Amino acid sequence: MDLDWSPPMALPTTGNLVCWGTREMVWVPFIPEGQVHAYQVDRSTFDRTLRQKASQAGVVVFGGATLQEFRQVSGDLWQVTFSTSTHGRRRISVRWIADATGRRRRLGGRLTTYRTWTPRLVGVVGYWRCRGPEGHGDFMIEAVENGWLSFAPLPRGQANLTFMTGLETLRTRGTKSLLELYLQNLSSSHHIRAAVSSFTPPSQVRVFDATPRIAASSIGPGWILVGDASSELDPLSGQGVQKAIGSALTASAVVHTSFARPSHTEAAFRFYQEREQGVFGAHLRILHRQYARETRWADRAFWKARTGPPEGAAARSPADFRGGEPASLHPHDRIRPGRGIRVVKRPVLEGESIEVREVVVVPGNGRGIRYWGTLCVPELLDLLGDSPTVTEVVQRFLPRADPSSNPGYVYGALRRLLSLRIVERL
Ligand SMILES: Cc1cc2nc3c(=O)[nH]c(=O)nc-3n(C[C@H](O)[C@H](O)[C@H](O)COP(=O)(O)OP(=O)(O)OC[C@H]3O[C@@H](n4cnc5c(N)ncnc54)[C@H](O)[C@@H]3O)c2cc1C
Repeated sequence: MDLDWSPPMALPTTGNLVCWGTREMVWVPFIPEGQVHAYQVDRSTFDRTLRQKASQAGVVVFGGATLQEFRQVSGDLWQVTFSTSTHGRRRISVRWIADATGRRRRLGGRLTTYRTWTPRLVGVVGYWRCRGPEGHGDFMIEAVENGWLSFAPLPRGQANLTFMTGLETLRTRGTKSLLELYLQNLSSSHHIRAAVSSFTPPSQVRVFDATPRIAASSIGPGWILVGDASSELDPLSGQGVQKAIGSALTASAVVHTSFARPSHTEAAFRFYQEREQGVFGAHLRILHRQYARETRWADRAFWKARTGPPEGAAARSPADFRGGEPASLHPHDRIRPGRGIRVVKRPVLEGESIEVREVVVVPGNGRGIRYWGTLCVPELLDLLGDSPTVTEVVQRFLPRADPSSNPGYVYGALRRLLSLRIVERL
């Protein structure tokens, strides 16, 4: 989408500054060369711009809408009442309703239950004002004795500084005000404290719950939960927006499937539910590894509660396809399908709808994988019957591959598939 990413909408950033497990602050670029920019986004400007774009694309947008009532009048019809700043009070009838109300989960809160798998996490947030010229736009994160701090410069000469901690820190603060607790924990930091030394501190702070949680059901007849309304991630991951956009794109394909291919509706529901659970499970597993990397305050309640053995979903969650370093592979190595893999038919997202296609299932991952990037994995495995060399596989695959694929791309994908044990060396 064509958006103007310059201030006031966003500040460009190439990576995060991270102080975790050591006193040093390390710059972690989003890609090793640090070329790809991400953005610190001003949400109100960003959301307004998206609404304008949607409206230009033909979507009917009601400005300043607040949902008031909704009820399912029959199996495939909802009646929704809301007030708007542009069109007054409106009542509409719809066949599908998608809850994208974030942590307020207006629909999800009524139709399903939510479950947490980790200790309660709370944030204390304050907005700082920049007195001098604005500095860099890189996001900073720093572990401290009772939790961690994040510092996000914002486009309008402000910065968001948040202290994330456990419920026990709030409960045992005695007579200290929230602001005192916040500033005291900031003073135990080295880098973020220095970063805000020229900023004006807030006169008040706000507390919020940030415990990761997931809906028992993310989809049902005529309703679907997207983004945080479906599951909330620990802010440490910095993946909430990406996950929300991913679930919204998938949800649109699921709803489209139910209209255009009613016979695939059940598969589409299963796909969405499994996808939401799988993404959340992978999040918990990565989160556990991230927290376990900080060992300096292992006896403090916050860290003790988060660095023990993974439990529940974190332990049982499906294998994380993104993890693992690519294995080394030489052009003359002979490869074959990994032992233990199975090729089965499962619902997958293809184009604008959910289709039932072959996927490769590795032990420990029930959902299976169809694509690695643009590369169709079951098709690639079909070429390995005679245990060819890597060079031969690349030559065989390229004529059937996506036009954007080149030998280096296929070779890189094979290394990844090797590290995931989807293929193995002879
Ligand atoms: C401290 C913190 C730091 C984070 N940092 C990052 C980060 O660095 N990177 C990242 O990717 N993610 C981050 N996240 C997570 C990210 O903000 C969320 O995951 C993401 O915003 C979810 O998007 P959403 O659209 O589902 O919900 P939201 O962004 O919460 O949007 C919900 C919308 O629904 C509207 N709404 C609610 N109720 C109603 C109603 N009754 N009627 C009408 N409208 C309603 C709200 O006004 C809002 O506009 C962070 C979260 C926290 C708590």
